[in-house]
Amino acid sequence: MNIGILFGTRPEIIKLAPVYKELQNRAIPTTVIHTGQHEELASSMLDLFQIKVDYNLKSMHHAPGLAALTEYLLHHLSKLLRTIKLDALIVQGDTTSAYVGALAAFYLKIPVYHVEAGLRSFDMHNPFPEELNRKQISAIATHHFAPTTQAIHNLVNEGISEDAITLTGNTVVDALKTIRALSNYQNSTPSLLSSISQEDKLVLLTLHRRENIGKPFIQVLKAIHQLLVVEPNIIVLFPAHPNPKLQESIEAFSVNNERFKILSPLGYVEFQHLLDRCDLILTDSGGLQEEAAALGKKLLVLRTKTERQELLDSDFTELLGTDPKKIVEATHRVLSNASKKMPLSVYGDGNTAKKIVDHLLTR
Ligand code: UDP
Repeated sequence: MNIGILFGTRPEIIKLAPVYKELQNRAIPTTVIHTGQHEELASSMLDLFQIKVDYNLKSMHHAPGLAALTEYLLHHLSKLLRTIKLDALIVQGDTTSAYVGALAAFYLKIPVYHVEAGLRSFDMHNPFPEELNRKQISAIATHHFAPTTQAIHNLVNEGISEDAITLTGNTVVDALKTIRALSNYQNSTPSLLSSISQEDKLVLLTLHRRENIGKPFIQVLKAIHQLLVVEPNIIVLFPAHPNPKLQESIEAFSVNNERFKILSPLGYVEFQHLLDRCDLILTDSGGLQEEAAALGKKLLVLRTKTERQELLDSDFTELLGTDPKKIVEATHRVLSNASKKMPLSVYGDGNTAKKIVDHLLTR
């Protein structure tokens, strides 16, 4: 047996690391293919999770733009998959790497197993192109590992047989638990946190979706600017994605305040420490919403559409968009509310990778 694992971006590595580890623990031969879509964000994750990459397609250096990326990946993945003879290919989520990987495998009649299947925003342009990517993967995949009952419902509504779906939870919970069990996690505190006092309210901001780049992002920066004026004891930390267009917006509207710190992307261990300490998360990230739910952290979503409806239904998150007035009002309201959020188990108990590999072995 030879199981292929394909990833290209930071969240895919985090969410497939537990599956890789489970396959390794059971001595199942694996071949790891890295498309290199986010090379600079990936390397620290690969080291942390001790993932040995067998093939790196280094797409980031060759293919700017979605069409060029798709063309490059389809060509190179097809060539590679013809030579390595896989029994199955595992893809995760909704990236262009995952979609093109599934397509290349499909053309070669290699069964595709989709981790985190069935998420839908029901808007093809939001998130773009991820909604299309995940729908295409669902049309191709042999088996669908759905994180929630909502995701199963979405797949069944698209005509996918329940026999081809397994409810697993989300592997991000496995990753969170693995990291927190490490002694170097328990024994370290990032220097970033040592300058923040217990009285400070720590707000963690991340923003990277295509829909938010440009004007919406500048709106968020305006909101941060206003927040820092009206909330004297908040500190906002912003590990900024290296996307050049995002960097342009940062330069276009600079928030000059020492309580707003723009950081380079953080390693997973350091970032998890910030999550543990922070009082509120403002984000358009998907994975971060799941992590916040599993940890019981307050979070506001800077998007207008979501594929994580279960978090809205349970009142865990609010969809705010990027209107500065709404962001300032909601942040103030949430930070003033002393009650704590309870962790949600909607994404499972940290045994998702085990369920996935159990299923793979029964095929
Ligand atoms: N993350 C990280 N360092 C950072 C920012 C995020 O390790 O500086 C992790 C975060 O904990 C989460 C994942 O990256 O697991 C989310 O990635 P991202 O927001 O890029 O993608 P999405 O989840 O929206 O697809």
